[in-house]
Amino acid sequence: MATHIKFWGVRGSIPSPGAGTVRYGGNTACIEVRRGHDLIILDAGTGLRQLGRSLLKEFKRGPLNLSLLLSHTHWDHIQGLPFFAPIYESRCRLRILGCEGARKSLVAALTGQMESTYFPVPFSRLPSNIEIEELEDFTFSIGHVLVSAHRANHPGVTVGYRLFSPDGIVCFIPDTEPRPGGADREMIDFVRDADVLILDSQYDRAEYKKHTGWGHGCVDDSVALALKAGVKKLVLFHHDPDHDDRTIDAFVKHARALVKKRKGQLKVEAAREGMVIELGGKPAR
Ligand SMILES: [Zn+2]
Ligand SMILES: [Zn+2]
Repeated sequence: MATHIKFWGVRGSIPSPGAGTVRYGGNTACIEVRRGHDLIILDAGTGLRQLGRSLLKEFKRGPLNLSLLLSHTHWDHIQGLPFFAPIYESRCRLRILGCEGARKSLVAALTGQMESTYFPVPFSRLPSNIEIEELEDFTFSIGHVLVSAHRANHPGVTVGYRLFSPDGIVCFIPDTEPRPGGADREMIDFVRDADVLILDSQYDRAEYKKHTGWGHGCVDDSVALALKAGVKKLVLFHHDPDHDDRTIDAFVKHARALVKKRKGQLKVEAAREGMVIELGGKPAR
C-alpha cells in the first residue's frame, strides 16, 4: 500500500495556457491524493476536468466514491467542478467539505456558479449524489486518512489541510501569506514534520513587497516556514499566472540555494501538472 499524490492543476488566480507555461501547466488548483480505495481531491480548480476524464476511464463501471476538500471558494479553487464529468454519472458519490464563511453558505457558492447566468446545467439537475458539508469539526477522517484543517492567512475564510495517512503526512495550504521569515507558530505546528508540504509560493521577495497583504506568500518565507517545521519536501504551489516556466525554474533554484545556505535537508520542487509523489509503499524484502 502507498499514498499517491498527483498534481492536476498548479496555477493560482486564473488559468494561464500558452507557450510559456507548457512545462508546469496552466490549470488552476487541483490535486489527487489516493490510498487504496480512499480517493481525496484537494480543491476543484480547472485541473479537475482532466482528473474527471481520467477517473471515468479508469472506473469504467461500478461506483465512484470521492471526497473533495475545498480550501476556499475563490474561482481558481472551484471552477473545475461544473466540468468534472463524474458529477454527470448517477454512480458517482461525491462528498464536498469546506467552509465558505464570507456571506453565503458553501452550498450557495457552489450551486451559484451553475446558475443559468453562468452555466447551462443547474446543480439540481445533476444525477450524481453530491453532499456538501460546511466544516464543523476541524479534525475528521476519510477512510484510512485522518484529516485536520487550519485557518490560513488569506481573504475570506480559507483553510489548509493536513492529511495523515499510514504512509506519511501531506499538508496542503494553497493560499496563504506566511508571516515574514515563516514565523507563524500555529502554522509551523500545523505543518510540523510533514513529508510533503504543498504551499503557496506565488511571489519572489521583490514581488511580495508590492503585494503584501494580498494573502499570498513568497518563496523565501515558504522555505523559512518549511525549515522551521522540519518538513521533508516543500512543493511550491499556486504559481502566478504571469510566471513562465523559466521564472518557476528560477524560484526552485533560489529555494534550494536558501536551504543549502541554512544547511537544511529540505527538498524543494515546484508543482507541475502530471507530477506524482509517492509516499510509503516500499517493497517488502
Ligand atoms: Zn487561489
Ligand atoms: Zn484565494
